[in-house]
Amino acid sequence: MNKKALSPVFIYDDEEIHYKFNESHPFNQDRLVMTVDLLRKAGALSDSAIRTPRPATDSELLRVHTAAYIEAVKALSCSVPEDRWVKEASRFGLDTDDTPFFPGMHDITAKIVGGSITAAELVMSGEAPHALHLGGGLHHALQSKGAGFCVYNDASAAIAHAKETYGAKVLYVDTDVHHGDGVQWSFYADPQVCTLSIHETGKYLFPGTGAVNERGEGDAFGTSINIPVEPYTEDESWLECFGEVLTETIARFRPDVIISQHGCDAHAFDPLAHVHCSMRVYKAMPELIHNLAHQWCEGRWVALGGGGYDIWRVVPRAWSLLWLVMSEQTVLSQLAAQPQLALPRAWLNAWQSKSPVQLVDTWLDPVDAWAPIPRREIITEKNRQTKDLSMMYLK
Ligand SMILES: [Zn+2]
Ligand SMILES: [Zn+2]
Repeated sequence: MNKKALSPVFIYDDEEIHYKFNESHPFNQDRLVMTVDLLRKAGALSDSAIRTPRPATDSELLRVHTAAYIEAVKALSCSVPEDRWVKEASRFGLDTDDTPFFPGMHDITAKIVGGSITAAELVMSGEAPHALHLGGGLHHALQSKGAGFCVYNDASAAIAHAKETYGAKVLYVDTDVHHGDGVQWSFYADPQVCTLSIHETGKYLFPGTGAVNERGEGDAFGTSINIPVEPYTEDESWLECFGEVLTETIARFRPDVIISQHGCDAHAFDPLAHVHCSMRVYKAMPELIHNLAHQWCEGRWVALGGGGYDIWRVVPRAWSLLWLVMSEQTVLSQLAAQPQLALPRAWLNAWQSKSPVQLVDTWLDPVDAWAPIPRREIITEKNRQTKDLSMMYLK
C-alpha cells in the first residue's frame, strides 16, 4: 500500500441534516453545514478527504437493536403511520418530546449508522489512519428504545463492527456532557470493549446514570469507567480528570482502536447542561486522544459527533478543531503562536446575519473576560475525589 496516500477521512453527506425531529427541536443538524463551511473557508477540508456514508443493513442494526424495535422504527417512519403502531410508540420510547417519531426516520438514521460503520471499516482495514463522522454519536439509543434524541445507536454499531469483523479490542471514549449510557449498556458485560465517559453528574442531568460504581459486570467488571463531574466544572478540572483517567485506562486496557464521541455540550454556552468549559477543552481532548491513538493503537482512531445545542457559537468551532487536530492542519500552528487567532472573516460574514446571538470571532474563547465561577476550589476537590474513585478497579 502506498503510505503517502494514507490520510484521515471526513465522512459527510448533506442529506444528514434530515435527521430532524421537528422545527422547534434542539437537535439541529444545520450545525453540520456550518462546520463544513467553517472548515472549507479555513482551507482545512478538501473534497478529496470526504467520503459519503451508505445505509447500514438490517443485520448491522441487529447487532445493537432488537428485531421488534427495528420493525417499530420502520413502521413509524411512514408519513402517516398505522394506528396500531402509533399506539405502540411509547413502548419503544418514540412518543416523547425528546425523541418523537418522524417521517423517514428509519432511512436517515440507518444512513447515520452506516456512516459510523464506514468510518470504523476504513480505519480497521488500514485504508485511513483516522476517520471522522460528525453526523454520528447517537449514544443514548438503547437496545429496544429510542432516547435522548437518539433513534439508533451508531456508536455501538461501529464498535460492534470493529469487534465482530476484525476481532478488535475497542476503547470507547465519550466526551459529551451527558452520560454515554446506550453504549455503556451495549457492552456492559463484554470484556473486549471498554467504555469511558466523562459527563455532568446524573444527579441533576439526563439520563441520570453514569455513577462511578457502574463498572461493568462479570468478566467485564472494570471495563466501564465513569467520571461524573460537578455542575459548573471548568476547563482545568475537566481536563485534569479526563487526562488522568484516559491515560491510565488506555495503558492498562491496550485497545486496538479508539472510538470517541465528541458531544460539545459541556461548553459554558450550552443551554442543556451546567458544566462551564470553554473551547480550550475541544482542542485539548482531541489532541490527547490523537496522541494516545498513535502511542497505543498504531494510530487507529474513529471520532463521531454527538450533542451540542449552541449551534452558532459552539458546535462549528468545536467540531472544526477536532478535524484540525485529526488532520494536523497548519491552522493549529498559527493558533499555537497566536491564541486569539480570528475565525475566517468570510465565515463570520456568512452566518452572523442568520444567528440570533453575536458569534465569537476567534477559534478559542476569550476566557479572561468571563466572570469567575464561585466555589471553584470545592468543585475541583470534589471532582478529584470522583476521579480517584473512577480509577479504583481499572482492568
Ligand atoms: Zn495522526
Ligand atoms: Zn449531550
